[in-house]
Amino acid sequence: MNKVLIIGAGGVGRVVTHKCAQLPEVFGEICLASRTQSKCDQIASELQRPIQTASVDADNVAETVSLIRSFQPRLVINVALPYQDLSIMDACLEAGVDYLDTANYEPLDTARFEYKWQWAYQDRFQSAGRMALLGSGFDPGVTNVYCAHAQKHLFDEIEQIDILDCNAGDHGYPFATNFNPEINIREVTANGRFWEEGEWKETDPLSVNRDFDFPEVGVRRAYLMYHEELESLCQNIKGLKRIRFWMTFGESYLTHLRVLENVGMTSIEPIQFEGKEIVPLQFLKALLPDPASLGPRTKGKTCIGCLVDGVKDGKKRRVFIYNVCDHQECYQEVKSQAISYTTGVPAMIGAKQMLTGKWLQPGVFNMEQLDPDPFMADLNQYGLPWKVIEMPVEA
Ligand code: NDP
Repeated sequence: MNKVLIIGAGGVGRVVTHKCAQLPEVFGEICLASRTQSKCDQIASELQRPIQTASVDADNVAETVSLIRSFQPRLVINVALPYQDLSIMDACLEAGVDYLDTANYEPLDTARFEYKWQWAYQDRFQSAGRMALLGSGFDPGVTNVYCAHAQKHLFDEIEQIDILDCNAGDHGYPFATNFNPEINIREVTANGRFWEEGEWKETDPLSVNRDFDFPEVGVRRAYLMYHEELESLCQNIKGLKRIRFWMTFGESYLTHLRVLENVGMTSIEPIQFEGKEIVPLQFLKALLPDPASLGPRTKGKTCIGCLVDGVKDGKKRRVFIYNVCDHQECYQEVKSQAISYTTGVPAMIGAKQMLTGKWLQPGVFNMEQLDPDPFMADLNQYGLPWKVIEMPVEA
């Protein structure tokens, strides 16, 4: 029987656990572990079948190895924070199990997320005969698989990809983030960056925008940002000339963010406060609503997809491959809003491909390097149905 260890009991951890629990034929036994065990117990109490829970500090490799050895899973699903990626990968290698995450490693003291640290594990995972699947959330994750699907089925040659991420949900607060505020704000306040003709080009934070008419949502303003899937997709999609990432933000969110930034609250540089060292962004996180508490209040939809340009049968073609998700429907199913849902479901589906052997092979992989077909089929089956629409080709 397949056993899986899930580490992290936040918004995403809740969804992954609910979704894995719904599939006992694949996920025979589940252990949910996190720093705060009471959060795991709360999630366990919401399920239709019993699971184990544990407390673990995943920054501590020895502690994580000992939990893995006592539970003996085949796979560890890491949905803690990006800071824990390397220590959990180390623990998986030491204990001899496979690994999956949804976000790439980011050092605590530099707001720079890059794959280089995790790609450096390639030889170790290969020689140990173990697999590490990186970025099995929505973006990265599903967006990478959409690109692989476009490459395999829709185009002879892909020239350009714009990844478009729209959250049109409203939680009623003047300012809150939909997932971990620290990670979210670090990402949004960083310089924009895109890849064109083999080179990275930088833009000032949120300085480039465009309006896009999102299916089922309408016109929203999207801002050019750097996002981690660009780093692997520009290498793995053959013939690509340009790839960019865009995310929508409302005016109120941007105004709050500007003010917080101007007064120094988004800084990750430690400061002395009343004899104690604090990091302003971590203090801000403590003040903001817990993303998990947004679930019951958030109404509206998300629409995330890939606008792909290229050539098929000698003709120019442009398609939008996307999913629309409704916050309230997600909450009814798994007690989480759509941002956690759209991350947690693909984590379960990625884990399913590994456990059923469809994707299992030694080494460190990004999602687009694997066959998109079984994953795309499961998206339709397990709550994230996708559509492809033809778009007018620009002259
Ligand atoms: P949360 O902050 O809600 O949850 C994080 C969880 O990890 C908490 O339960 C926390 O425990 C636990 N944790 C933190 N540090 C440790 C540690 N050292 N050891 C054990 N557990 C720890 O985050 P989310 O659920 O919103 O996000 C989870 C992950 O998903 C993040 O890496 C995020 O970047 C990623 N993500 C990916 C997306 C994608 O599309 N690819 C989109 C959204 C998120 P405690 O409660 O005790 O602090």
